[in-house]
Amino acid sequence: MTAPAEASRPSRWVVRSARVLSQDPAIGDFESADVLIEGSTIAAVGPDLGAVDAAEIDGTDRIVLPGFVDTHRHSWQSLIRHVSTDWTLPQYFSGVRGVLGKLYEPEDMYAANLIAMLDALDAGITTLVDWSHNNNTPEHADAAIQGVFDSGIRSVWGFGNSNDEWLPISDVPQSRDVFRIAERWFSSGSSKVTLALAPRGPQFATPSVTLADFELASELDIPVTVHVGDGAWGKGLPVQWMHENGLTTPKTTYVHCNMLADHEFDIIESTGGAISSAPELEMHMGHGRLAALRAHERGIPVSISIDVCTSVGGDMFSAMRALLAGSRYLVNIDALDEDRTVDPLPLTSRDVLSFATQGGATAAWLGETVGSLTPGKRADVILVRTDTWGMQPLNYPAGAIVESGHPGLVDTVFVDGELVKRDGQLVHHRLSDVRRIADAARDRLMERARIDNAGLWQPPVYTNK
Ligand SMILES: [Zn+2]
Repeated sequence: MTAPAEASRPSRWVVRSARVLSQDPAIGDFESADVLIEGSTIAAVGPDLGAVDAAEIDGTDRIVLPGFVDTHRHSWQSLIRHVSTDWTLPQYFSGVRGVLGKLYEPEDMYAANLIAMLDALDAGITTLVDWSHNNNTPEHADAAIQGVFDSGIRSVWGFGNSNDEWLPISDVPQSRDVFRIAERWFSSGSSKVTLALAPRGPQFATPSVTLADFELASELDIPVTVHVGDGAWGKGLPVQWMHENGLTTPKTTYVHCNMLADHEFDIIESTGGAISSAPELEMHMGHGRLAALRAHERGIPVSISIDVCTSVGGDMFSAMRALLAGSRYLVNIDALDEDRTVDPLPLTSRDVLSFATQGGATAAWLGETVGSLTPGKRADVILVRTDTWGMQPLNYPAGAIVESGHPGLVDTVFVDGELVKRDGQLVHHRLSDVRRIADAARDRLMERARIDNAGLWQPPVYTNK
């Protein structure tokens, strides 16, 4: 690979002779093809693009894909990664919400978001919907957004509530600070980072407050991402209620959806919504049956998300694997119980790869902008190595990516035509100090919480008292 000097970063790149999984049915896949990037745009995809004036990247033993899209992550929690890996959902509410969330300072939001986004970029996630629901003051929100901007990732920043407002069932309306935020950070309309509303929804706030919260989105004409159907809270027909109250717009993405009734999936389909499944977290924390299959069968756009990094890792390879295995587990166990066999398998690795790319872009309201290697789309492009013991001999690229992919194999990452990872290493101006910033913020947070060893901490079960 030709590595240009930082000061003279080229605006044209060509990836040569790579395996291409375009995620665009009209373009298809190639055993060997070139991908041309001009400025921030994908200019051409095809076998042997010929001589072009561009910096060259050798695509031998590489699979080229559009960058992954994570459609729901509470990035602010990255400072307290893995503390809740062995906690129940009620313990999570007690520990993360009852103790840690309210102790965050604005600088902690910044450090957490910066390290969250670098983690994502390192793993080939080029777009991330930051479900930001620890905005305890305007300064917290500003710091969180600054972290997103400073990372270089493409993001939809979802304005959620403060920590206190998240303890259900809330009768406190969502802050109108979103209007200030829209003006300060998102008025140009040309940024890689855009704004959405992340309200609590009918499961976690009273009906009148939920209506008032959603009104913020329609006043600002921004999309909505909302948790529905997760665990016991999700059994109360939240989508039906939203539909009866005029809240099921085409610019709504429904997160989790495990416990929704069949007719609620029909509502999502008929109103043009999309879903975000966080398969690994949902299985750990008892949210219910994975929803991807029920949505996919109806033609609802399906996307994949990480959700809570206090419990699970932050890469899309693991999430794709969890979704594929978890979905197949459901149909297989049902068939066993009913003395049937399953043939064919109802979900493929190609399906989950499309959920992680184009499906994610659609669910993040960026389906025309990213999600596939389509000329004219923005150049969010990744290269994954296949010259490793776990990938060779390479027979079925989609299966290999889903079942044997991991962040260490992500060789090259472009966001909007900007090279952010090359030769397996992130390129970022804060790499030298971001870990120190995050470690120091974590230490101060744990000190304020009087927690000596987060790995041994077992919070009591949350009781809503
Ligand atoms: Zn969530």
